[in-house]
Amino acid sequence: MDKEEKKFSSAEPINMSDSDLNFAKDIGKVAGTDLNSCLTCMSCSGGCPMYPYMDYGPHGIMRLAVLGLKKEALTSTTIWRCVGCHTCAAVCPMAINIAGVLDYLREQCINEKYPIGDKPIFEFHKAFLTSVRFHGRSSKVELMGLHKLFTIGGGPFAWFQDAYLGTKMILMGKLHLLPSRLMGSGISQVRKIFIGAWRDR
Ligand code: SF4
Ligand code: SF4
Repeated sequence: MDKEEKKFSSAEPINMSDSDLNFAKDIGKVAGTDLNSCLTCMSCSGGCPMYPYMDYGPHGIMRLAVLGLKKEALTSTTIWRCVGCHTCAAVCPMAINIAGVLDYLREQCINEKYPIGDKPIFEFHKAFLTSVRFHGRSSKVELMGLHKLFTIGGGPFAWFQDAYLGTKMILMGKLHLLPSRLMGSGISQVRKIFIGAWRDR
């Protein structure tokens, strides 16, 4: 993954004509947090391990939300590159649930069919959930296979580019070729979570 230049550092003026001034309020209701209390102190972005790879960073997304710039927030790479570590929330002086906000924005991006800011990461989420749906837990080998299938198709080089590392991991007992499944009622309980929540995109 390449580092990203920050969009806020661009000299281009921000176009406010499509601003949705209820956006921050709507997010706040669902994520249970008050975005308007954000001080733009940048502590969240300062502590975020993924900040170099994001187009706005968590503080930038807070600003976009407060300004009502919904499209910019929902199409950003930031919402997909967040790894949900909650470091941002832990350092925020205003106790804003930033990771919860980014979760909500990912969901909104899918629900409202906005272009996905980072398609391969979206496909990784899909591959992970496909594996969990079928086995009740994720299978790493299956996850890798599905991710390749969803993102790069059938080019022979692409399929074998991780073969060396994969073989090493199998030999070290870090990867198991056959998926392990949840036993008993566990699997049906996990599948119930997916009923009504599974969307194709
Ligand atoms: S740490 Fe909190 S107050 Fe500071 S910019 Fe981030 S969200 Fe806003
Ligand atoms: S939860 Fe996301 S935005 Fe917050 S610090 Fe971790 S990666 Fe960055």
